[in-house]
Amino acid sequence: MGEKRFVYMDHAATTFTKPEVFEAMLPFLKEHFGNPSSLYSIGREGKEAVEAAREQLAKALGANPEEVYFTSGGTESDNWAIKGTAFARRKKGKHIITTPIEHHAVLYPCKHMETQGFDVTYLPVDRYGLVDPAEVEAALRKDTILISVMYANNEIGTKEPIPEIGKIAREHEIPLHTDAVQVIGKIPLEMKKKGRDVDMLSLSSHKFYGPKGIGALYIREGTEIDNYMHGGDQERKKRAGTENVAGIVGLGKAIELAVENLENHNEQMKEMRDRLLAGILEIPSCRLNGHPEKRLADNLNFSFEYIEGESLLLMLDQMGICCSTGSACSSGSLEPSHVLRAIGLPPEIAQGSLRLTLGDENSEEDIDYVLEVLPEIVKKLRAMSPFYKPENVCEE
Ligand code: PLP
Repeated sequence: MGEKRFVYMDHAATTFTKPEVFEAMLPFLKEHFGNPSSLYSIGREGKEAVEAAREQLAKALGANPEEVYFTSGGTESDNWAIKGTAFARRKKGKHIITTPIEHHAVLYPCKHMETQGFDVTYLPVDRYGLVDPAEVEAALRKDTILISVMYANNEIGTKEPIPEIGKIAREHEIPLHTDAVQVIGKIPLEMKKKGRDVDMLSLSSHKFYGPKGIGALYIREGTEIDNYMHGGDQERKKRAGTENVAGIVGLGKAIELAVENLENHNEQMKEMRDRLLAGILEIPSCRLNGHPEKRLADNLNFSFEYIEGESLLLMLDQMGICCSTGSACSSGSLEPSHVLRAIGLPPEIAQGSLRLTLGDENSEEDIDYVLEVLPEIVKKLRAMSPFYKPENVCEE
């Protein structure tokens, strides 16, 4: 085996902050530290910077700046969209439609709303994790007040048919929220052009080379939604709390760069991803999770039979490779990922999963290195498994 290298392939978990983004943020952590609500000049500078970032974000989404609200990240945006809409529209009905493959930032607020007397339908998904728009329509009821379907899945990379679901939502006048945390800089978004596809859209800066702890919720003008954070008059009285000015400036710069670079990024990722995919599929008893074509250009998710994901992860880490697994050994019990379970994987297969998500700093050398290291580790772990017998391994 060649020399050990550091290879980060967990960009769906988080990304590094690009130097241009960091440079743009620095003045707002140093000399321009004023509170944007203050009337003196360093306060006004902060306010101007926040509004400039709002313009950058609105431009990237093809939205109006008045429709963009800064939050603390994807989790807050999702919570706001679900709880805010449910409470604002509760006199009209108590039915919410979502999917079982959403991020916990959507699923848990939905579960919470069930404790508040709301009724939630979790739509079925197929073996690739795709939602069928016809199922959305079939699930609609007279008392449906919200549909929430993610734009692309963070674990298996499957892209959902949001424009089609948006058409149905529009026809039935039900607001549609989408968690777009994984798609910024990967799928072009044009909120104005496509009419009323989506009414609310969540995003989070640390997934597209911006800082952590800052995100936004796009809310189409006229959407009924209660406030989530109560307090000061910030964000046009809709989201209280002193603005994270440096974070907002970073988000603005990061989304500008992400959208400028979208096509290039997708092309580069796809090239590397396809080579990695072909190489990994040569490992016996290994399958790709998620849709083979309708998937994000930078996402790969595999299941390896007779292997436990966390052992794989730890051994890859020893070799300098950072990635993630669908199994999490928390509080002593091995819980396989809810996404992998929802697409029908049996627990023992879901537990042997590995997610590799590529990003801007990955190179062809990184792909070579993973293709050199991973098959050896899989072989070693299988040799230790009491269930593994070479004659059972299928060459797919
Ligand atoms: N939604 C999706 C699809 C995500 O992947 C994540 C983060 O992993 C979140 C929401 C939560 O975002 P944040 O980390 O900004 O709270």
